[in-house]
Formats: sequence, structure tokens, C-alpha cells
Amino acid sequence: MIATTCRNVAYFDNAATSWPKPPQVAEAMARFLNESACSPGRALHCMAGQATQLVNDTRSAVAGVIGAEDASRVILTSGATDALNIAIKGVINARLIAHKHIKPHVVFTVLEHNAISRPINELTQLGLIDSTVVECDEEGFVDVDAMLEATNERTVLVCCTHASNAIGSIQPVAEIGARLRSERPDALFCVDGAQTTGALAVDVDALNADLFAFTGHKSLLGPTGVGGLFVGERAYDPNSESPGMLPLRQGGTAGDSVSPVTPRQLPMYFEAGTPNTLGMAGLLAAIENAPARALEHEREMVRRLTEHLRGLPGVRLVGPSDIKKRTASVSFVVEGRSCPDIAGLLDERYNIAVRTGLHCAPNAHRAMGTFPDGTVRLSPGAYTTVEELDRVLAALSDLLAG
Ligand code: PMP
Repeated sequence: MIATTCRNVAYFDNAATSWPKPPQVAEAMARFLNESACSPGRALHCMAGQATQLVNDTRSAVAGVIGAEDASRVILTSGATDALNIAIKGVINARLIAHKHIKPHVVFTVLEHNAISRPINELTQLGLIDSTVVECDEEGFVDVDAMLEATNERTVLVCCTHASNAIGSIQPVAEIGARLRSERPDALFCVDGAQTTGALAVDVDALNADLFAFTGHKSLLGPTGVGGLFVGERAYDPNSESPGMLPLRQGGTAGDSVSPVTPRQLPMYFEAGTPNTLGMAGLLAAIENAPARALEHEREMVRRLTEHLRGLPGVRLVGPSDIKKRTASVSFVVEGRSCPDIAGLLDERYNIAVRTGLHCAPNAHRAMGTFPDGTVRLSPGAYTTVEELDRVLAALSDLLAG
């Protein structure tokens, strides 16, 4: 049992996990648990049918959100970390087997979350691949030419975050994807949409993404433990001799138990095991009940926050100045003050929840000059109220201007 209840918190940690959720999320999860929480796809009884329907409906709903025409190309996962591991290791394992004598090369950026940089660094340290890290400019944007220049004839995968979780900068992924397709057609493009799915309009085709990872618990306003990976035709062809990607897990699937190996059909090839149907019930309800105009609302919050912070002594805002080129992750540091101190005081004195530290993206902070302490990150969300924002602005003035 959780012993204490946090009351009247002004929650500014939506970039980590959004809160609150649409009320229908908890209702749908409770209903599913009470009425039909059984294994999907494997039995013929009525409850199994309902669970199967839920999985199919969730897949269609998330496919709609990310503009994936073929919903079977959306693999449901436990989140973006799971999706990115499936993408990175799936591509590398397939290439290592298909071309035994060629060492694959991977490109990623300084802005990546550990969910991308750690799997790539590990494979690099094991000597299985070579990798190149691309820098960003002082506002946290990578350059399209620099991404292309980092590739070579062995490059099999280029990974880029759609927006930095640490500082909010939205990357030119559509251009990177387009250039890769014309100039490096053998390289697959993997986009980390953890910070953008649900927050910005996303269309995997327009982004030229071969692989697109997303999560349910941030701007899609769903529960933790559910997310997905779009796998494009260039990344995986179930009918090809060499599949292009291998699954990380093998095991039981929804249908076809006869085959000695996991059947190559989508989505089941990448979805072995009983999925998080409870999370899907919540995610589907979140998508169906998402508040309108969340983007405008968040941009207005970011405008007020950044304007206010700029006026406070010693504050350095880290990241983009143009509101249209950023998400709602507002990061800052204060000369002569420690980030954990500021975050601690905001919590203790004002009941305001923020995040401090490296936000799982250490290289972004090396690039921004905020390593190793990181930043204080304020991330308003779809449900942040004007009163909560006013409370934050007053608390920041009190703490930093006094
Ligand atoms: N990538 C980015 C950019 C993120 O912000 C996060 C979550 N902090 C992840 C990946 C990992 O997402 P998940 O929590 O769904 O595993």
C-alpha cells in the first residue's frame, strides 16, 4: 500500500510521465480488470474475444495517431525503451547474420535518451558495431548535413530523437529521413517519438521514418508500461528471404502455435508473450478522450514560463528560444545555485513537482555545458491549469529573485 497521498501538487513533470490522465483511463482499466482481463488472441471464449478486440482497437488507435496506414506494422511494446531495443538490436542482429564480414555502422546524436545511446554503446563496446555520435548546436538542434556526413557505406541505422526530452528541441527528422533515403538508401532511419507522440502532429510517412518508437505514458496520456514501434516496409518484409530485422523475444503468439519458431507475420513476429492488455485499456481510453487543443495550451504555458524565467537574475534557459521549435520541456540552470536544491525547495516549500538532473540524456548536457549537474526541468502538460502555472511563477520569483 502507498502510505501517503500527495495532495494539491502542482505537477510539472509531464515530460517524464504525464499526470493527471483523462478520467476515462482509470475507469476503462478498472472495467477491463473486472470484466474481461484475460489473455488475448489465444482462446475462443467470450472474454478472450473482448481482450483480443481491445488489442486490435488499441493498435488501430495508435496507428491513427502516428499516421501508420497498415496497423499491423505497429508493434505494441512495454514502452519506448522496449520499442527502441527491438528496433536497434533487431536491425543489428539481422545485419550481423546477413553480412558476416561487414561490421555494421550506426549513427546517433548527442541528444539521445539512454534508451538509444546505451544499446548502441553496448554493441559498440562489444565490438559488434561501429558508431558515430553527431553533435548539436548551442540551442540543441542537429544539422541535417552533419547527420549525412556521419554516415558511410557500412551505415545500417541512423537514430535521432524527434524532440530532446532534456531541453525540448524538435529535430529536423523529416529532412534527415528524406536525405537518407536518397543518399544512403541502405541505412534505416529510426526516430524516437517518446516526447512528441500525442504532443505534436506525427505522420510516420511524412517523417520518412523506417522505425518510429513511442510511449503511452507521456503526451498520449495513458498509463505506464505500454507503447509501440512502427516498423516500415523498408525495415521489415515478412516475405523476404532475409527479414531485415530479428525479434528480441521468441515465444507464444496470438495464433499459430504449430511453427517451431515465431511466425514471421506482423505484428506477432515482434510481440511474443502475453501483452499488457490492462495498459492498453488505459491507453485506448486516453486516445479516445484526449483533451482538444493541448498543443496550443502547452505552448502558451511554455511562453509564459520562459518569459518569466528570462527575467530572473542568474537564470540561463537551456534549449531553443523559438517556441514553435520546442516541446514543453523547459530546462534551466541558475548561476551559483544547485539544481537539486532548487527542485527540493520547489517540492518542500511550494508543493511543486519538477525534475532535476540529467534526464537520462547525459550527452545532451555535455553538449549544452550543463554536465554533470544537469538542469531543472519544468514540463507543463495538457491538464496544467493557469493557477498552477501562476503558483510556479510566484515560487520561482520567491526562490530566485529574493
Ligand atoms: N526516449 C525519450 C526521448 C524519452 O523521453 C523516454 C522517457 N523518458 C524514453 C525514450 C523511454 O520511454 P519509456 O519510459 O516509455 O521506456
